[in-house]
Parts: sequence; C-alpha cells; structure tokens
Amino acid sequence: MALTVQLWTPVVCGCTIHEVFDPDDETVDKTYVTLDEAKEVLNKRGIDSDRIPPAKLCKSHQSLGHTTAMYDALRYDNDIVLNDTIHKVLLPNIAGLEEEQIAYTLDADRVLQVTLSEITLNPLKRTQLDADLVVKFGLGKVSIA
Ligand SMILES: [Zn+2]
Repeated sequence: MALTVQLWTPVVCGCTIHEVFDPDDETVDKTYVTLDEAKEVLNKRGIDSDRIPPAKLCKSHQSLGHTTAMYDALRYDNDIVLNDTIHKVLLPNIAGLEEEQIAYTLDADRVLQVTLSEITLNPLKRTQLDADLVVKFGLGKVSIA
C-alpha cells in the first residue's frame, strides 16, 4: 500500500519528527525518516512536499541527532517508560491516585522526572516504587520527586 508521512509529537517531550507509516496496514511498523526522506515519500505519491515543516528535537533527544537511534530512544521514552511508569507502576500501586495528579518532564539526560500532586508517599511505599522502577528501566531512568 501507499506509505505516507506524519509529523509525530510524543507526549513525553517537545520533539516533532517525521514518521512514515501505512494508513491501510497497521501491521507495518512506523519508521523514522529525515526531512529529505519524508519529501521523497510524499513526492512518490504526487503530494507537494515543499511545505512540510522541518523536524525538531527537544533538549532530551537533541544530542542523538536526526537518526534512527533518536527515534528508538524517543519511542522508548514515550511508549515504554512514560506509559509503564504511569500505568504499570504508579496507578496500580498508589491507592487513590488519579492520572491527572501525575506530572512529568523528561530532563536533558533523558531522566523522567515525576511529580505527584496531593499525594504523600510513606517511606516504605516510596522505596518499593523506586525499586520497581529500577527493575523495569534501570537505575536513574525515572525519578519521583
Ligand atoms: Zn524529545
């Protein structure tokens, strides 16, 4: 089927990148492309590609450049780290916590900094959550303030 291009902005950070996908076939993996490659994909479909905006990388992913490694890192931070931290670690383990109470930013070292509002964690729960996060993502990947 005909591949197309979308600008994708993850929720975890301020990146905007060009992603190629097949709108008619969800089994085809999305892949990252550079601006030139994105234009090529659109040109093949007869779509005017002159107006596609350039991609931009946030401070967390900037150092990786416009590369497949950046895309993999971005997908990991957004789809795995952020999602699993919220849905597999925080929400199931903190009684009464709502998703709206969870705020986060990804710092320049790609550490997810999480803040919980209106929740005070007791030391035991905190230690348990920190341990869960280390097991899932390794040391120093997620930090709960
Ligand atoms: Zn980013």
